[in-house]
Amino acid sequence: MSKRDYYDVLGVSKGSSADEIKKGYRKKAKELHPDRNADNPKAEEQFKEANEAYEVLKDADKKAAYDRYGHAAFEGGMGGGGGQRGGAGHGDFGSAFSDVFDDLFGDFMGGGQRGGGARNRAARGSDLRFNLRITLEEAFAGMQKTINVPTAVNCTSCDGTGADGGAEPTNCPTCSGMGKVRAQQGFFTVERTCPTCSGMGQIIKNPCKSCSGQGRVEKERALSVNIPAGVETGTRIRLGGEGEAGLRGGPAGDLYIFIEVSKHKLFEREGTNLFCNVPVSMSSAALGGDIEVPTIDGGRSRVKIPAGSQSGRQMRLRSKGMPALRGAGTGDMFIELAVETPVNLTSRQKELLREFEELSEDNNPESKSFFSSVKSFWDGMKG
Ligand SMILES: [Zn+2]
Ligand SMILES: [Zn+2]
Repeated sequence: MSKRDYYDVLGVSKGSSADEIKKGYRKKAKELHPDRNADNPKAEEQFKEANEAYEVLKDADKKAAYDRYGHAAFEGGMGGGGGQRGGAGHGDFGSAFSDVFDDLFGDFMGGGQRGGGARNRAARGSDLRFNLRITLEEAFAGMQKTINVPTAVNCTSCDGTGADGGAEPTNCPTCSGMGKVRAQQGFFTVERTCPTCSGMGQIIKNPCKSCSGQGRVEKERALSVNIPAGVETGTRIRLGGEGEAGLRGGPAGDLYIFIEVSKHKLFEREGTNLFCNVPVSMSSAALGGDIEVPTIDGGRSRVKIPAGSQSGRQMRLRSKGMPALRGAGTGDMFIELAVETPVNLTSRQKELLREFEELSEDNNPESKSFFSSVKSFWDGMKG
């Protein structure tokens, strides 16, 4: 389909002034606005076409380029006259429409027609936040949890419409369905939310008794939530459409579950790795041996302690940490030895330790010379 000439689209002649072009666009925008053409599917296309034409012709540079090269001026990614989306908050009709929005707003108001009220009729429900505290073991394994969420749900008596017996809401007479009213205050025109319909644009003559016309009622809902393995404090799980029900049949909000993992009495977590302190007796640390340590999966692992291990020595147990969330792999578990000094010794134990100490001095001349140097230091102090 070949593109229509921009001047033809706006119904103006080639030599038109900027003012005449704006007037032409204004007329087309009013005629073709989708809010007034619900049953004419072609109108939206033509409305976009008019927006595109006006985007170009209102801009002196773009207009000059168009006058010279025609549509070719904006092909191949140059210029960008063509119907961009987004814009200044008037639906997705681009910035062209915002130029004349205010003018047209007045026209729609006076027209007493369907107006722009349709946009406001049904409001989206709020997003909800639910804090869920779980244990480290639960975060390790993942789980299915049933939570009770206080929320607003669609009223079943009126099917969410808010009207008794399912009667259709009618346009608000105060604002003609716009949801906003304009008032003259001195020199200023003030626009504010319509007090009759609270901005909904519609009123209900016979409100539903169960929900007082809100279309939704407060209720606690039981939801089954799948908590994946590997979650940590701060993980958010989004349940689309499980938030608060919309007003009068509007779309529901989302539910966000914020995870908090409780502190564990044994394990410290850092990402997917787990750390824990393991006490070992002085003799085990010196002689070496096997110890058993608990693991997060509820089992136990045997760890070999090398002879002569010092306090603070770290050992790694591969793949005994936490699973990675939404990813392959598992972290490691690190144990740190804490060598315990024996207490409450019997006289026999003391005797053995003394003997042990003497043997150590014989065995280790450096330690002996250290001992004698300390001794001579004290002797010097006394003398
Ligand atoms: Zn109801
Ligand atoms: Zn109103």
